[in-house]
Amino acid sequence: MKIYFLGTGTSQGIPVIGSQHPVCLSNDIRDKRLRVSVWISDEKHSVVVDCGPDFRQQMLQSGCARIDALLFTHEHADHTAGLDDIRPFNFQQGPMPVYAEQRVLNNLQKRFDYIFETENRYPGAPSVNAHEIQVDQRFAVGNWEIQPIRVYHGNLPVLGFRIDDFAYLTDVKTIESDEIEKLKGVKVLVVNALREEPHATHFNLQEALDFVTLIQPEKTYLTHISHHMGFHAEREKQLPENVFLAFDNLEITL
Ligand SMILES: [Zn+2]
Repeated sequence: MKIYFLGTGTSQGIPVIGSQHPVCLSNDIRDKRLRVSVWISDEKHSVVVDCGPDFRQQMLQSGCARIDALLFTHEHADHTAGLDDIRPFNFQQGPMPVYAEQRVLNNLQKRFDYIFETENRYPGAPSVNAHEIQVDQRFAVGNWEIQPIRVYHGNLPVLGFRIDDFAYLTDVKTIESDEIEKLKGVKVLVVNALREEPHATHFNLQEALDFVTLIQPEKTYLTHISHHMGFHAEREKQLPENVFLAFDNLEITL
């Protein structure tokens, strides 16, 4: 299985427009972060999690040319605003299979009413095949069984996903103990860590590290990172062994 980090930044991306913060001015490519998304693939499967405003650029940079399933963690714009750009996939492979909870599907329908329009559709409008998923029901994409995991982004229920020994959790602030059971034996964990200072709806660095101690994966990659996390090169030196800051276009295999 190949994990390709399409974007590792928080909602504004890094650099932030107009910012003079040193991290926003950094020349290190690892300090440039598009909105958070990941591409999980093997010879037979290609799954993308979330479709933020940088989706088009991410598809071009990664060379992703086929998507079997587009999974949504939740409806916030930094995770959904790129949905119009699925059109090139529609022309190649037909309607995009989209997997999300009903609340998120309803929200997508509101944001992108023209995509879900059934009468008088504009020719060439993006098209989706919507699949409702439930937190306690695994779903299949090809031969993969995907396990949704409930986490909370402040008060908002959000989904993470586990495929085999890989788990991807973003926009987490809290998780209940039953759901932690679903993460037993995970070898590679991706989890959000915004910055050092606490935040109302995201793990800060210490909360993410405490979570890593609880789950005990072999390796952890932190994502959904703000420029307030500091320079990639400096921050990574301070992390425990086997915990890394993810960065855009990083590819790992497991
Ligand atoms: Zn987010």
